[in-house]
Amino acid sequence: MKSINHLLSQKNKLPIIISGPCSAETEEQLISTAIALKKTIKIDVLRAGIWKPRTKPGSFEGVGTIGLKWLLEAKRQTGFKTTVEVATAKHVEEALKHEVDILWIGARTTANPFAVQDIADSLQGNSKAIVLVKNPINPELMLWEGALERFLKVGITNIGAIHRGFSKYGDSNYRNPPQWQIPIELKQHFPELTLICDPSHICGKRETLFHVAQKAMDLDFDGLMIESHLTPDLAWSDAQQQLTPRDLLILLDKLVIRKGKLSPALTSEIDKLRQKINVLDSDLIDVLSKRMQIVAQLGKYKKANQVQILQPKRWEEILNKSLEEAIEKGVGQDFIRNVLTEIHIESIKLQSKIMNEEEK
Ligand code: PEP
Ligand code: MN
Repeated sequence: MKSINHLLSQKNKLPIIISGPCSAETEEQLISTAIALKKTIKIDVLRAGIWKPRTKPGSFEGVGTIGLKWLLEAKRQTGFKTTVEVATAKHVEEALKHEVDILWIGARTTANPFAVQDIADSLQGNSKAIVLVKNPINPELMLWEGALERFLKVGITNIGAIHRGFSKYGDSNYRNPPQWQIPIELKQHFPELTLICDPSHICGKRETLFHVAQKAMDLDFDGLMIESHLTPDLAWSDAQQQLTPRDLLILLDKLVIRKGKLSPALTSEIDKLRQKINVLDSDLIDVLSKRMQIVAQLGKYKKANQVQILQPKRWEEILNKSLEEAIEKGVGQDFIRNVLTEIHIESIKLQSKIMNEEEK
C-alpha cells in the first residue's frame, strides 16, 4: 500500500488536515463552516456526515442525499476537496454523482466484511477513487487490514486509514480509547500507508483533543481529521467534541511537528542511547530466562510434594513488594503490575506443564 498523501494534501505539506461538521445540518451551516475553515488556510479536505450510522435509533441519522448538493456547493465556493462516509453501494453511487473526492468507511461498517465487500465491488475498476478506511469499532487489527485488502483486491489503490479509537468497556477518559499499539502495528505491516488520526471520536470531548492530536503527530501520523462546527454546542450530533474553526486554528497552531532532520552529532548520541537500551533489553531477557529456570525447578518440587501451583498469598507478597520498589525507583505502578502479571501468568503456565507431564 502506497502513500496517498499527495492526493489529500492541498498545501503540499503535512499534516493533512480534514475538517468540517460531524453532520451536514443545513446548507447555510455547511457552507458557512466551509468558508470559515477556508480562512484558516490550514485545511486540506472538507468533511461532512450525510448518512449517520447511530448506535441507537432515534438520534439524528443524517440529512441524506440533499446534503451532497450542499457539499458540492461548498466545494465550488471554497475549492476544498470533499469527503463523506459511505456505508452502502448506493451511498457510493450518490456520492460520486455529486463529485465527492474521497469516500470514507465508518468504524461500524469496517467491522462488517460483507458491507465492505459490497462497497469495494461497487468501486471495481474505478482507478481514480480515493478511500479512507476507519478502524473497526472493536480492537481487531486483522479486520482493519482485511477491509483495506478488500479495496486493494478490486484494484482501488488510493487507500488510506483513519484511526478513531476502539469501543471501551468500563470507565475511560476517552470516548473510544486509542490503543495506539494497533495503528502502530498497522503501520509496521504497511510502512507507506497514509495514516490519519481522528482525535474527535477518540476523545468525545473538545478539552482533550490537543493532547491526542499532538500524540498522533509524535507518532508520525500523516494527518488529522477533526470535527468543526460554527456553534458546536448546538450541533445535531457529537456536540461535545466539535470545535469552532477558530479553536481548531488555535489547536493546529499549537501543534509541534517534529520533522527535524537529525544532525550527525545527534544521530550518534541517539545511537549510543539505543545501544544502551539494546544491552538492557538483552539483560532483561537474560533475567527472565533465569527466572523461568528457577520457576521450572520450583514446579518440580511442587509436583514431588503435591503442592498447589497457585499460592495467592505468595503472589500478593511479590506484587506488594514490587509496587513499593516501583514507587521508590520512580517507575509507574500500573506498568510494573502489568509486567509482573504477564510474568506470573507465564510462570503458572510453565508449572502447569511440568505438573501435568507424564513421567517417562
Ligand atoms: C464520523 O466521523 O462522524 C463517524 C460517525 O465516525 P466513526 O465511524 O468513527 O464513529
Ligand atoms: Mn461525529
